[in-house]
Amino acid sequence: MRITRVTCYRQYQPFADGPYVLSGGRVDHGFDSLVVRLVVRDGSRVVEGWGEMSPLGVMYDPAFAEGARAAAPLLTTALLGSPVASVARTLDDTLKGHPYAKSAFDMAAWDAVGRLADLPLHELFGGADGEGTTLYRSIGRASPEVMAAIALDYRERGYRRLQVKVGGDPSADLAGLRAVVAAVPDAQLYCDANGGWSTGDARRFLAATTDLTYVLEQPCATLRECLLLRPHAARPMVLDESIVTMADLLQAADAGVDGITVKIARVGGVTATRLIRDTAVALGMQVTVEDTGGADIDTAAMAHLSISTPAAQRAHTVDFHHWVTVRNGTGLPSTDGGLLRPPTGPGLGIDVDPTVFDPPIIDEGE
Ligand SMILES: [Mg+2]
Repeated sequence: MRITRVTCYRQYQPFADGPYVLSGGRVDHGFDSLVVRLVVRDGSRVVEGWGEMSPLGVMYDPAFAEGARAAAPLLTTALLGSPVASVARTLDDTLKGHPYAKSAFDMAAWDAVGRLADLPLHELFGGADGEGTTLYRSIGRASPEVMAAIALDYRERGYRRLQVKVGGDPSADLAGLRAVVAAVPDAQLYCDANGGWSTGDARRFLAATTDLTYVLEQPCATLRECLLLRPHAARPMVLDESIVTMADLLQAADAGVDGITVKIARVGGVTATRLIRDTAVALGMQVTVEDTGGADIDTAAMAHLSISTPAAQRAHTVDFHHWVTVRNGTGLPSTDGGLLRPPTGPGLGIDVDPTVFDPPIIDEGE
């Protein structure tokens, strides 16, 4: 089962709902996605596997789209002729670090393996627990009136859970949060600072919101700051940007952090996501599996990894194919009821039509 051909595409995916605004003045307008196709031969049988990765701009994680494209020729050369089963090792033996640049290749290998096994990936990752994974939408930092209107719109579109972006001036953040609560009092809320607060800012926000129910997400930039804050936050805390390695996960668990968000690209692909997810589950933590960007291909991967996470410890995920104005695959089930359901076909379970892309940036092999 060796990789015989590697093709890479670039797809720009504008956001359907306007700019995405994070703390610190960070704004992004779309995903700049790297799509990878691997052709794998097993005797006379030939299958394709697809993978996708997009960073969220250049200031969210230490990752950028041009970096992924720059690494792609090196990784392509290493993978051609190599066994698909050991793709994660081959990638790590070829390039130290740069996990996001490897993610689409690793995802494509898993799609191919699932197709060869004739099983949907969630069957290989522990089996489906439940019908689907709760979807959330993010409300970017804006005026309280705008945030309330966006919250109502998402609620009407069936999203049961809302993530309110905070992490700026605590007073302004508080006004935005209270406007969202007033607009949709029954929504389950996460307040995500994306690491924008000092520990002092976070304490001010926490002190001013003791009457509200929400989960606090990534209050400060560093793991150390978040863990110093942990004993002073009398509410669930989940970490996202700070969870990059297994050591980060263990340190967070030991300090009483309640949950983690694993982003496929941040940790280097489906292989590493599964390992961190399973360890977090074994540690008794809440787990969200999602990613930093993409469309149908990436959403399918999130769907399989999420539904195979035990339901009692699964938080939520995102439907990126609905965030953007372009598509790159067909076959994702309906998200009615605010649930992301996994495709049932083998591998990622979606069909990708390469004609939707511009000519490939790499096409090597046969
Ligand atoms: Mg987050």
